[in-house]
Amino acid sequence: MGRVYNFSAGPAVLPEEVLREAADEMLDYKGTGMSVMEMSHRSKAYDDIIKEAERDIRDLMNIPDNYKVLFLQGGASQQFAAVPMNLMKNRKAAYIITGQWAKKAFAEAKIYGEAVAVASSADKTFSYIPDCSDLDIPEDADYVYICENNTIYGTKFWELPNTKGKDLVADVSSCFLSEPVDVTKYGVIYGGVQKNVGPAGVVIAIIREDLIRDDVLEGTPTMLKWKTQADADSLYNTPPCYGIYICGKVFKWIKKMGGLEAMKAHNEKKAKILYDFLDESKLFKGTVEKKDRSLMNVPFVTGNEELDKKFVAEAKAAGFENLKGHRTVGGMRASIYNAMPIEGVEKLVEFMKKFEAENS
Ligand SMILES: *Cc1c(COP(=O)(O)O)cnc(C)c1O
Repeated sequence: MGRVYNFSAGPAVLPEEVLREAADEMLDYKGTGMSVMEMSHRSKAYDDIIKEAERDIRDLMNIPDNYKVLFLQGGASQQFAAVPMNLMKNRKAAYIITGQWAKKAFAEAKIYGEAVAVASSADKTFSYIPDCSDLDIPEDADYVYICENNTIYGTKFWELPNTKGKDLVADVSSCFLSEPVDVTKYGVIYGGVQKNVGPAGVVIAIIREDLIRDDVLEGTPTMLKWKTQADADSLYNTPPCYGIYICGKVFKWIKKMGGLEAMKAHNEKKAKILYDFLDESKLFKGTVEKKDRSLMNVPFVTGNEELDKKFVAEAKAAGFENLKGHRTVGGMRASIYNAMPIEGVEKLVEFMKKFEAENS
């Protein structure tokens, strides 16, 4: 069997072209006689790789000069602590709770200061994004925190919250580079790359320069202080070299595809195929409020657990992998990140139609 259609939420599908290129360069990267995995992170060849990766993501996202781009480790989860450690001058922050990842970040922030939940969609199992146009944000909050795309529940902030002038911090792990963004609206944008950008092990953080400070919380480990990494151009210690190299290739691939506008169009087209079917199906239905639907993660159910199980099993046998919903939600979830081709979604919908005909 060749490659499957992989609907995993993360680590997730990468562009086949990128994988082939990496395979070609595996034993001898551009005449160096070694793999990127074997190369000193202080070498000229590697310096070119990381610098070019940074230039390309800056181009793609149109990142202004007063923002730093950091390539970090520790997963998105480590930034749950790094964010309050670096930003909680007043030891207070406002969190908007729209799912598991926001909840985890909120719980972590509470270790370091007063984290206040200013909005939540927990009342309807996170199936919507709360109205954030006029929240009660504490005067002395250091920042407002969101998880912009909720990987598990399949919702997305289509409008950013009114932060009442506070800096916005966003975990964009599962919508990174899926559409154009206005970086200037954020203080910090960060995400683990294993959802939409590259292999697990790399976190990219885009941070406005004035938020990169020396006066972080007492006890902040050197490695978690953004300034350490910013001053060293992400080379304070050995970075996740190979992962960054693959991210760089994905940036080139996105550029070749036409950049983030083209990615958005591609993602909208794919999501529409699936959502249109879910809206007309008598068997399957989407679990999220329509206006808040994610383009990346599409949860759905039949309403019958046995049938859900049967669907996941038959889909797997037919070459559609990882459609089982998150363990906390059940049902199904199709993650249709940038690298999922249109045919993958078209074929999935065909398969769902067939399953519906056979099971109703
Ligand atoms: C996957 C995910 C995380 C956790 O990422 P790790 O790199 O495993 O720590 C955090 N936030 C969001 C939105 C995610 O999708």
